Amino acid sequence: MSGKRLTVVVSQSQSKNPAGRQMEEEIATQLILAGDTEVSLIPHLYDLTADHPGMLFLKSVPGDLVVLSWLYPRATRWILDRNGIKGQEGVSELKADDEDEEDFDDESAAPSADAIGSLNPPNRKIYVIDLRVRNQVDDFLAEIRRIGQESTVETVALMDWIGGNPQPEQLERYLHADNGNQVNGTAPTQNGNGAATTDAHLRTDSAPVKRRWYPVIDYSRCTNCMECIDFCLFGVYGVDHSERILVEQQDNCKKGCPACSRVCPENAIIFPGHKTPGIAGSDEGGVGNLKIDLSKLFGAPSALELAAQERDVELVADGREAVGMTVGIPKRQAAGPQERDELDDLIDGLDDLDV
Ligand code: SF4
Ligand code: SF4
Repeated sequence: MSGKRLTVVVSQSQSKNPAGRQMEEEIATQLILAGDTEVSLIPHLYDLTADHPGMLFLKSVPGDLVVLSWLYPRATRWILDRNGIKGQEGVSELKADDEDEEDFDDESAAPSADAIGSLNPPNRKIYVIDLRVRNQVDDFLAEIRRIGQESTVETVALMDWIGGNPQPEQLERYLHADNGNQVNGTAPTQNGNGAATTDAHLRTDSAPVKRRWYPVIDYSRCTNCMECIDFCLFGVYGVDHSERILVEQQDNCKKGCPACSRVCPENAIIFPGHKTPGIAGSDEGGVGNLKIDLSKLFGAPSALELAAQERDVELVADGREAVGMTVGIPKRQAAGPQERDELDDLIDGLDDLDV
């Protein structure tokens, strides 16, 4: 049976905070009661490996998709993209009350015109919603209803993809995994035409996951300059068959270290678990390339110096030699003093004020 059906996936928090769990479960329950939505509860998206049943389920969704997670939307979107879960960007109207969507005053936080973008996104929409922007379940339900009305792509129901996609071994794992359960619904059945009918609206994937730490590239900003691959000395980055930068060995990254995000000239590297919003994927504010870099005024290390220090800590912890600023420091730094920098602009601005 083909039909218009929206799939909603709730990525659960890493924390077992009961208020968060209650919110996740209440959203899922209310969606099931409302009907006409496939709902899946999966562990924290960032922690999922490529072969986790929750990730396999996400890969199997053929049509429009809504993903709710406890992450900045940019982080969620590019984690999905990295795992081959691609689509056109659906725009959620549910934002934090103080969020100004057009505020790109900080040029370092704006998407780059030279960005390489996502590779071949299909013609379906993916909406991502940050569960932290509201604390009322009804707000999320209303937005999902609105998206359901907006969604126009015809999708196939759950059983239709069993005919060929995903791969048989993936399907086997998905259907028979001890950790993937359908609850609160009826198992899918075949109707008289052999087409699927299903009332099974909620599935859960509780396969255990370990907390992970790795960079996520935002290809809407990345210009493929390769500065990250030059800087990282731990073999995390690589290139794909099209010579595009890629986070190849995710788990080689050093837990808690965000060094390369400070080096990227486009602020395209996200560490979703970092406490600094600009590093964790917030649209507001850059990582270290602020228009007026206050470190120049107050003597604090620059973003590049800080990155080199953070990298040295990890090198030494691995029993290797610290390299400081001698390896992989971006060309913009190695090129020496600019003719004019932000400090000059700031001083000129103060002069113009005639104070
Ligand atoms: S440094 Fe940033 S812009 Fe350059 S390739 Fe890496 S992620 Fe892309
Ligand atoms: S944070 Fe450090 S180890 Fe991880 S990818 Fe960046 S430079 Fe490499």
